[in-house]
Amino acid sequence: RGADDTGGPFLETAVYAPRELDEATGGAPGFANTPDSDPSLPANRDWAREIHERIADSTLGVSTIDAARVDDADTLESTIAGVREAAALWGARPATERAEVLLRAAAALEGRRGDLIEVAASETGKVFAEADVEVSEAVDFARYYAAKARELDAVAGAAFEPARVTVVTPPWNFPLAIPAGGVLAALAAGSGVVFKPAPQSRRCAAVIAETLWEVGVPRDVLALVDIEEGDLGRELISHESVDRVILTGSWETAALFRSWRPDLPLLAETSGKNAMIITPSADLDLAVADLVRSAFGHAGQKCSAASLAILVGPVGRSKRFARQLADATRSLHLGWPTDPLAEVGPVIERPEGKLAWSLTELDGDEKWLIEPALSDDDPTGRLWRPGIRVGVQPGSRFHTEEFFGPVLGVMHAPTLERAIELQNAVEYGLTAGLHTQDPAELALWLDRVQAGNLYVNRGITGAIVQRQPFGGWKRSSVGPGAKAGGPNYLIGLGSWRSSGSGT
Ligand code: GLU
Repeated sequence: RGADDTGGPFLETAVYAPRELDEATGGAPGFANTPDSDPSLPANRDWAREIHERIADSTLGVSTIDAARVDDADTLESTIAGVREAAALWGARPATERAEVLLRAAAALEGRRGDLIEVAASETGKVFAEADVEVSEAVDFARYYAAKARELDAVAGAAFEPARVTVVTPPWNFPLAIPAGGVLAALAAGSGVVFKPAPQSRRCAAVIAETLWEVGVPRDVLALVDIEEGDLGRELISHESVDRVILTGSWETAALFRSWRPDLPLLAETSGKNAMIITPSADLDLAVADLVRSAFGHAGQKCSAASLAILVGPVGRSKRFARQLADATRSLHLGWPTDPLAEVGPVIERPEGKLAWSLTELDGDEKWLIEPALSDDDPTGRLWRPGIRVGVQPGSRFHTEEFFGPVLGVMHAPTLERAIELQNAVEYGLTAGLHTQDPAELALWLDRVQAGNLYVNRGITGAIVQRQPFGGWKRSSVGPGAKAGGPNYLIGLGSWRSSGSGT
């Protein structure tokens, strides 16, 4: 589900139907999702211990990112021109060749799983398990887009003309999967890439780029460009040779990009304010576990995170539910990524502005079920014990704004209808959850909910390539609305020749 910011149609079913589907899975031929590391295996525990020991002093990616520094407009200009030229050859290669490079990339990313976890932990504070799933997702993107490149070629052939220059501007909160996904999608489609890392996760970007160069992606087809987000950033985004920009970031950033260049062909996944509804028919034990994981995984720093729980009728009055929720939250192990037991890690920097407000202040009659608290021995101001505010009122600040941190708000609704209204009454529409065991409730919710990614009786974070393509609706998406890890994403990275038969 989804639509672009102009309310236009969503591409998912509109463009073409894949021809070849795997009979067993109904998915891309030969594709299966990559498993995460299994911590119950003794060999994995030894491997993880070695990674933990390296995190504090990690220097992975430093020399590569230093070499990618661009400080002047002339160098930026010649880099873009170089990508444009090299991309003509890359895009003219048969899709099967590009797909082979992507499959080698998948193996190489898997081979550097430990390095990727190390660099994400060291640079952004991501805890082991959260970084591990990102590597799996990056590997999935490589293999899935390889299959999709072949398919696009088979279906559309010469009718599809890839973009020459795609700028990929990923966020710091998923420093591995999201940059890898954007870069790999563009390469699979036949585009060249200017890869501009988020300032907080440049070494992660460097390790990804190194891995792709090593398996045969030409350096001038994939240019890593570490620039300040000032004038040079504006020059890059608004450059006339740039055919596409893939952005994951805030809605404000997408709007800023558009203000620089109104006709900018942008594929953006933007902000979210996501709620999970829990009805009286739900399995409440499961709901608590899913809610806590969705709210506080990666300290709430996911666009997909559950920022609100909307409790229907008696669930809101249930002392047992409140106690379970509080207990589950308090028992989360808080720690730096160097702590092997850490489940909730630090926020990216000392909270300021609205994040600081959300962690320290209440609105109206709100109360803390658990007050967020800075860890005692943390001089950095980054390690916060998660908090829960109850009594969040319709239309209040916490109901409608995105905060991106370890704090969950609880709202009450007398009926499911009202709960859905509250869930929809925000500008964004990224993820939405429902816990219910009543098929009629599910049908009502599916009919009315406005979000790109719908999750039933499951947490609302952690979309899975192919099975749960990821993308938003309303202010959570700007552009054609095709979902990352879904069947039509590559189509957004090129255009159709008018005489073609691929539409
Ligand atoms: N794809 C991620 C998930 O499903 C969220 C990405 C984001 O935060 O931008 O949890």
